[in-house]
Amino acid sequence: MDAPIAPTAVETRLLAAMRRYWGYDSFLPLQAQAMTAAMTGRDSVVVLPTGGGKSLCFQAPAVCRDGLALVVSPLISLMKDQVDALRACGVPAAAINSTQTPGERRIIAEQIRRGELKLVYVAPERLLAERTLDFFTRTPLSLVAIDEAHCISQWGHDFRPEYRGLRVLKQAFPRVGVHAYTATASKVVQQDIAEQLGLVDPQMLIGSFDRPNLVFRIRRSSSRLQEAVKLIEQRRGEAGIVYCISRKEVDRTAEALTAMGYRAVPYHAGLSDDQRHRHQDAFLEERADIVVATVAFGMGIDKSNVRYVIHLGMPKSLEHYVQESGRAGRDGLEADCLLLYSGRDAMTWRSLIAKDDSAAEAGALESLAAMERFCGSVACRHRAIVRYFGQELDKENCGACDVCLGELDLVDEPLVLAQKILSCVLRLDQRYGADYTAKVLAGSREARILEQRHDQLSTYGLLDSHDASTIREWIEQLVSQAFLAKTGEFNTLSLTESGRALLRGAGAPQLIKPAPSKSRERRTPGIGQEDSWEGVDRGLFEVLRGLRTGLAAERGVPPYVVFGDTALRDMARRRPSSLEGFLDVRGVGEHKRDEYGAAFVEAIVAYCAASGVARDARPPQRAPSLGDEARESQRPAAAALVAAFEQFGRGASIEEASQRLSRAQSTVLGYLTQYIAAKQVTDPSPWVNAASARRIEEAIEAVGSAALKPIFEHLNREISYDEIRIVAACLANR
Ligand code: ADP
Ligand code: ZN
Repeated sequence: MDAPIAPTAVETRLLAAMRRYWGYDSFLPLQAQAMTAAMTGRDSVVVLPTGGGKSLCFQAPAVCRDGLALVVSPLISLMKDQVDALRACGVPAAAINSTQTPGERRIIAEQIRRGELKLVYVAPERLLAERTLDFFTRTPLSLVAIDEAHCISQWGHDFRPEYRGLRVLKQAFPRVGVHAYTATASKVVQQDIAEQLGLVDPQMLIGSFDRPNLVFRIRRSSSRLQEAVKLIEQRRGEAGIVYCISRKEVDRTAEALTAMGYRAVPYHAGLSDDQRHRHQDAFLEERADIVVATVAFGMGIDKSNVRYVIHLGMPKSLEHYVQESGRAGRDGLEADCLLLYSGRDAMTWRSLIAKDDSAAEAGALESLAAMERFCGSVACRHRAIVRYFGQELDKENCGACDVCLGELDLVDEPLVLAQKILSCVLRLDQRYGADYTAKVLAGSREARILEQRHDQLSTYGLLDSHDASTIREWIEQLVSQAFLAKTGEFNTLSLTESGRALLRGAGAPQLIKPAPSKSRERRTPGIGQEDSWEGVDRGLFEVLRGLRTGLAAERGVPPYVVFGDTALRDMARRRPSSLEGFLDVRGVGEHKRDEYGAAFVEAIVAYCAASGVARDARPPQRAPSLGDEARESQRPAAAALVAAFEQFGRGASIEEASQRLSRAQSTVLGYLTQYIAAKQVTDPSPWVNAASARRIEEAIEAVGSAALKPIFEHLNREISYDEIRIVAACLANR
């Protein structure tokens, strides 16, 4: 490994501020460069994915420099969130917007005149009002930051005409650095941002679009809700978003989930403004765990601890998919993205697109086709996504998608199957589409097929033990693996070069079995993702989560403004019993120590005393308090998991497995729960003694298994959470 490069003087100052206000002690990728640009006043365009830490890129320099930082932001909700979060860290900040009274605005203007604020957020139209601009030209500014900068580009997905006016900023403040921030992946938009803003020799800082902490799974499914509920149940009590294509589906799904006892709310453009706001707030303030929504939901949602995003239907483009699924795991901790689609989704979209204006139609159809290929492909999801945006993935196995995790149930003899399909395409003279070809292979008696005498073809009914929609799916998979191509107005199928080679037996297609077999159906939850839980006492985590909710409600801010999940996990890992120890927690700065330290330390001490857990634990060697490395360590370690499975298969106890694998017991325990789920283990005896197991089973019978805490309490806190978890997992398999 390279020796660490010593930080520059500027970086040292930045790190000190980050430590003091945010409780972070290292930079995320490109943050050092982006912050240095903001410190030295060189214009910049910073492109980082969601969760990449863009806000800190201007906030930390704003704190370090003299003068006021002006932040342009498109949405009041976004501004409010950021200002709340800054104040919670002890950074004086305010927002100026149209909902304020002139009196309120005057107070802020006074604070600015007295130099009391470090950052002020403004909407573009307000900033560009002559009086406001005039006011700011008389204010010493440290920097200008433009958030969601892609809004300035017509080529982007979210063009806002009022952003166009921001070009005057370079003229109005010629000596102040202007810095644009966005997550947009398109090169055209990135260039356009620099041009539209009239930036002078801007530094272009483009990060990787990959989000290693998101685990992607894509499945064609005819029982979507049922499949979704499996994940929702595993994530019970955590925040998730469920996207549906239509409003009707949203309503139906939200109702169904509510009836099943989940705290779910619907969100779509058919609801009144008031309802939408109430539902959104319930989600942000953690009074509801699940939002079921159409694409209308999400813009301006800054919630950092969304732990899963489920799509009950295919989005209409990969851009949409990436944006929507990307709302999960902004805090960098592991999160699940599950896409469940059916063959009909694409047809639904096609008919909707056809109703739209025709100018955009071609582009929309192309995007949809790319989305279909993505769904049908059997290649790494992370790689497919970054490639779509013109980047490469720097590793062979991402360890965080169904393909790389080896979860896909593949057809046993894909070559023969593929050859049958390809020869049917040839027999049809490469003049028909996927639907028709699938029907011929399935042996359909449809009039059109009989009229054309295609029931006479040697390939007619060749796959009649499968239904047409399954065959149709395989065709899509062959298209996305480039053995077949769709061409022309009617998407007729033809063989590609490699398709012809495949007919001769050269090549290795991969086709997915129609219905996942029982053992695969069960999700092996986030393989190795357990690492970000390494050393974390989950019982304590739950206690601290409850405390966070209470404190947030008292202060009228969303819980994640008090602390993110990363900080809570680190607290439940280190379990500090003093305020000094508390300050070492990742995400705890001085202000938050003063504000919340006493309450959290008290809860930690009480919990440790009650449950016999050690306080002031030393953090694991791979210190999860380091930005880059922490994210690195959250990457699933599939190899360790495989080794663990082997150990458990041989009947190893947790202690033994932990020793042999040199992993913490808590990590090994995570592997064990995955092992139990994957192998459908029903007998906990290798890991829990018979008497305890029986008591736990009785407790579960009495209080249910929805949450562990009631079970723990029911057992008078005499049996550990770990043992409860193991027995509950085994019970679920019976
Ligand atoms: P973006 O705006 O790029 O989506 P955010 O600014 O919301 O990302 O940051 C994502 C998360 O990462 C936040 O929870 C933030 O506090 C955290 N974060 C930012 N910088 C760091 C850092 N240097 N170390 C640790 N966490 C960080
Ligand atoms: Zn992968």
